[in-house]
Amino acid sequence: IIVEVFRLKSYDMALSPESQLITNERNKTTFNVTELTNILDGGLEKTALRKSIAERKISLDPNMKTIHRGYLNKEQINFQNNRKMMYFFTDLAKRNNWHMDKPHSADMEFLPRTLANASGLLIHAGAFVPSIVSFGTPEQAAKWLPLAKACQIIGAYAQTELGHGTNLRRLETTATFDPRSQEFIMNTPSISSMKWWPGALGEMATHALVMAQLITRGENHGMQAFIVPVRDMTNHKPLPGITVGSIGPTLALDSTDNGYLRMDNVRIPKENMLAKYAYVDSKGKFQKIGNDRLMYASMVNLRVVLAKDEAVTYIQMACTIAARYSCVRKQGSLTPGGPEVQIIDYVTQQNKIIPYIALSYALHFNLAFIRSKYVKFLEDVKRGDLSNMAEMHMMTAGMKAIATERTSAGVEILRRSCGGHGYAVSSGLPYILLRLVASCTYEGENTVLYLQAARYLIKTAAKVSMGQPVDASVMYLTEDAPDKCQAANQMELCDHSILEACFKHRSRQLLLSVATELQSLVADGMKQMEAWNLVSIQLVNAAKAHMEQHIVSTFSSYLRNLKCSSAVREVLDQLCSLNALHQINNFPGDFLKDGYLSSKQLDMARKAEVKLLASLRRNVVGLVDAFDFTDDMLGSCIGSYDGNAYERLYEWAKNFPSNKTDVPCLWSYIDP
Ligand SMILES: Cc1cc2nc3c(=O)[nH]c(=O)nc-3n(C[C@H](O)[C@H](O)[C@H](O)COP(=O)(O)OP(=O)(O)OC[C@H]3O[C@@H](n4cnc5c(N)ncnc54)[C@H](O)[C@@H]3O)c2cc1C
Repeated sequence: IIVEVFRLKSYDMALSPESQLITNERNKTTFNVTELTNILDGGLEKTALRKSIAERKISLDPNMKTIHRGYLNKEQINFQNNRKMMYFFTDLAKRNNWHMDKPHSADMEFLPRTLANASGLLIHAGAFVPSIVSFGTPEQAAKWLPLAKACQIIGAYAQTELGHGTNLRRLETTATFDPRSQEFIMNTPSISSMKWWPGALGEMATHALVMAQLITRGENHGMQAFIVPVRDMTNHKPLPGITVGSIGPTLALDSTDNGYLRMDNVRIPKENMLAKYAYVDSKGKFQKIGNDRLMYASMVNLRVVLAKDEAVTYIQMACTIAARYSCVRKQGSLTPGGPEVQIIDYVTQQNKIIPYIALSYALHFNLAFIRSKYVKFLEDVKRGDLSNMAEMHMMTAGMKAIATERTSAGVEILRRSCGGHGYAVSSGLPYILLRLVASCTYEGENTVLYLQAARYLIKTAAKVSMGQPVDASVMYLTEDAPDKCQAANQMELCDHSILEACFKHRSRQLLLSVATELQSLVADGMKQMEAWNLVSIQLVNAAKAHMEQHIVSTFSSYLRNLKCSSAVREVLDQLCSLNALHQINNFPGDFLKDGYLSSKQLDMARKAEVKLLASLRRNVVGLVDAFDFTDDMLGSCIGSYDGNAYERLYEWAKNFPSNKTDVPCLWSYIDP
């Protein structure tokens, strides 16, 4: 296919009616957009860092320019993204001192957002390298990291097998120690044991970090990590005993290059077992080193990163596109024979967009909170303090699940809010949607994560009933609170403390009710696991309710401590109330069930939400401008800053390869 580099023309803002409409919207904004951007970034200096260090350096570099993915087939997308990211890591990142093994350094914080449209080398940089840091000894890190960081080797993270993903204990791949040769013999002994899904494995990887059952002296010591060379470094052919290839197209994420791997008596040196937490001596004696819970502590990092850099970034991008488009699109009128209105003026349209802007802000501040808590947790762990491990696990598992679930559902609503154009690849929305949908499955399938969070919550409920102390994030379960909502009118229902109380009450009720049911099933003689399975729908709901409570409370407490202008405070306060009210109005059952909310209060909640939508309407464009995505990052014809949706759609279509000739090649088949 002949392709042309997709370049958006910069139009004269005054030319089209659409750009005039979006300018009018900006003129209506009641607050200073830059101030809000600074708040989102974590301060003025951080905004400067993001813009100057990350975005400008990346966007101005000609090697980082890409052809819009809509013009390319899978192979070309794969090639383009990986070429671009290869250049990024081997050249640009090196020159700028950006290190993939230091994801929490200040400038690295903004890179994933800047690179959101390029998924190449995702697993190499996001899983292979961090796993070497987590599992490797200093000597192993010194050997492998320089090669990996310079992309002289490309690594896959090979854990999932054809037969098992979630249940890691049942993975079948084996690594058997041979003391005579001081080697491990790697085997995938059955069809179900072959590694299936690992990103980068399909075509790119030279090495794989393989999770396998360690067997020495005939004894199984459980899962350990091994570095296995899979392709010849000189000609990229599979090495002896290795069968490797691509699993074929997936829903999206073409450039993650998902693959399969079979190993038939593949021998690797003893030093290739990553040995920070476990060691096999020359005679095959197995030894654990230190506390392997430390290994887990560093691994949950990926969940924090995923929720922050994928879920939050993509919902903010989708909101930007849908909000801007809804302000330039006119359709129908609100008075008989009257002028056509912008579609954002329909209350149903506001209800599709503004609550997701509110969710974007709520999740943004929540993930910033969890990230800072996680960084502190890592410091505690380094000092040997593991006391917050269980709480951190619950929080990261629950937040990854709720953030990816809520945002992927939200992006589909935002996509539909753009009518037909939301279905076109040129809108940028299909790619965002399909990226997010995948994140509900990888790095822990969401239901499984909710159930893990529920396990912690059930233990907490038991502690509460015995009067034992509990962790800070679940302290509300011990509090005595009124059993009826105290709001007397619409205004009081928008009060953050009233809304927090609603969500705490719902979470407490759902948890205590499922804990009681579980306990009585077991007391009646049912086996614990059977009873757990029987009530697992309620357990998932209790975990979701706890996380929703966390989102509402953290947003509200963030605002209590925020120093900002009154204009910014007003919109953030409104967004915080709207985020909570939208959930109550969409899922009223649990709030009504035990009479906590009356039907009169629910009616007030509905009216309060409509009022908030009307009030936030004039700030819709300002609120998404504050996310500060460049047009390049959005890759959307309908969501660009200047609002010129129609001209861009037409220009995009004109440049489509099949429109490059007067007579399309299809003619040769249909010529009578
Ligand atoms: C785009 C993409 C990229 C990936 N990249 C990688 C990679 O780089 N490396 C890698 O190793 N893997 C990778 N994976 C695999 C991924 O990690 C697994 O698919 C994921 O962990 C889910 O496991 P599974 O496929 O076995 O699903 P299953 O566990 O089989 O889930 C299927 C269903 O069973 C349910 N279920 C399973 N167990 C339970 C339970 N205990 N209780 C209740 N319900 C349960 C789930 O909720 C789900 O509804 C990738 C997957 C995708 C989609």
